[in-house]
Amino acid sequence: MVDYLIVGAGLYGATFARTMTDHGKTCLVIDKRSHIAGNVFSKTVDGIEVHQYGPHIFHTNSEMIWDHVRQFATFNDYRHKVLSDVNGDKYSFPINLKTLESLWGEMSDAELLKKFESVKSAHTHNETLEDWAIAEVGEEIYRKFIYGYTKKQWGTEPANLPRSIITRIPVRNNRDDNYHAARFSGIPVDGYTSMVANMLDGIRVILDADYLENRSFWDSWARTVVYTGPVDEFFDYEHGEMKWRSLNFQHRMLKTPQFQDVAQVNHPDEHVPYTRSIEHKHFVPSTMGDTQHTVVTLEYPQKYIRGLEKYYPVCDDEQRSIYEAYRKIIPSNFIFGGRLATYRYYDMDQVIASALSDARNRLC
Ligand code: UDP
Repeated sequence: MVDYLIVGAGLYGATFARTMTDHGKTCLVIDKRSHIAGNVFSKTVDGIEVHQYGPHIFHTNSEMIWDHVRQFATFNDYRHKVLSDVNGDKYSFPINLKTLESLWGEMSDAELLKKFESVKSAHTHNETLEDWAIAEVGEEIYRKFIYGYTKKQWGTEPANLPRSIITRIPVRNNRDDNYHAARFSGIPVDGYTSMVANMLDGIRVILDADYLENRSFWDSWARTVVYTGPVDEFFDYEHGEMKWRSLNFQHRMLKTPQFQDVAQVNHPDEHVPYTRSIEHKHFVPSTMGDTQHTVVTLEYPQKYIRGLEKYYPVCDDEQRSIYEAYRKIIPSNFIFGGRLATYRYYDMDQVIASALSDARNRLC
């Protein structure tokens, strides 16, 4: 018998397990995958650390979280720069004065800003992603950088989507081309898997263990279960199946030292089936020259069907009310945490913060 059975060895589960173990509680972590680290799982492929489930750039405004993660890994000072490929031309993204200059030619900053103001529309009902974006950046920029990307990403017209999806992307009136505005940013130089392994140091972990297939067996091991799997599957879909968007990653090894100028190039053109190309070696710039080959991942958005990986929750009112119905029936000896169990899109720092807070609440 242990104090906590933790279902899922991703960032939430590992953070919770570490905190409880450090406070004298006994924990057992299980995961149905054959590896730890959930979707931040990375592995070394011919000398290059490859993010297996999409690019993960650690960024946070919280000094507490930044100090916390650096107990488990050495981080470099990588800051994420993204280019957007529109019909073969590369533009700085998110939209900033460099983007406008590439679009409209050389002008003073004041002239660029004046023109930028003049192209924005005076939409008043900007609740949808489309209306909000046109109001913020104007029709031309919306069509080039946002419309196709968003339609591919979500499999629907941007006019059907809430603006909350895009407001996380800044629109800048200066030349700052960092993708994230966070105070702290970096990549663990030995990879995320090694970071999560350090979090789990000394804690028993069983892989290839599917909790839902044998839940009474696993429940018998612990007083409290911390569940990080999909909330609807846990309840056998009794209030309905929750909607997700899925992704298909195609990893390619190329016999060239460098494929693109930055780690991430976005592909908003509708006729290009993928949304991003990721060249992993950029994440650890000190290793750029180490290999004559490179690994590139193309990211293809997909309709979610059962059996595929769940990536993005489709947060509309209907889904929120289904989630609420599930949340109300969570048994008292269970804690639900992380992206899948709380049906929330989380950045890494947010998921760690929520696991720390849930663990500390239990310890009070
Ligand atoms: N987006 C876009 N063009 C881009 C990048 C993002 O229109 O080149 C929009 C798109 O709607 C996307 C949202 O911004 O769903 C959030 O993008 P983000 O890069 O935050 O997505 P994530 O990295 O979380 O997949």
